[in-house]
Amino acid sequence: MNQELGRLLQQAVWERLEMLEKLASSADNKSLLSVARTELPRLTSGWRALLDAHTPDSRGRCPECSSRWRPRAALCSVWRAAHNLFLPAEPISAGAGPAVPGPRSRSLLPPTVPVGAGAAH
Ligand SMILES: [Zn+2]
Repeated sequence: MNQELGRLLQQAVWERLEMLEKLASSADNKSLLSVARTELPRLTSGWRALLDAHTPDSRGRCPECSSRWRPRAALCSVWRAAHNLFLPAEPISAGAGPAVPGPRSRSLLPPTVPVGAGAAH
């Protein structure tokens, strides 16, 4: 993907998010219900796809965020953002990860990996 196309895609996503925020704050109840019924499943599906792509492997490393030269043993920024978004009462900081961040993750998470273990710099 070239830089210009990437910029256009980013702009389109930001505009879509802005439009949804405006709808949430100003649409009448009937319109809001209609939007919620179509957009909430799309958003949850999108989050699931994103989290699936960032599910740690058996060594606790995110296949998207880690590289051979930069392994990440803790939950990656995508999982931390999801946790902080969906469970804001239990915020986690960078480099830390909850033992069980969510109901779907139980079967997806590797065995508990100590923070910083296995991380090479
Ligand atoms: Zn990741």
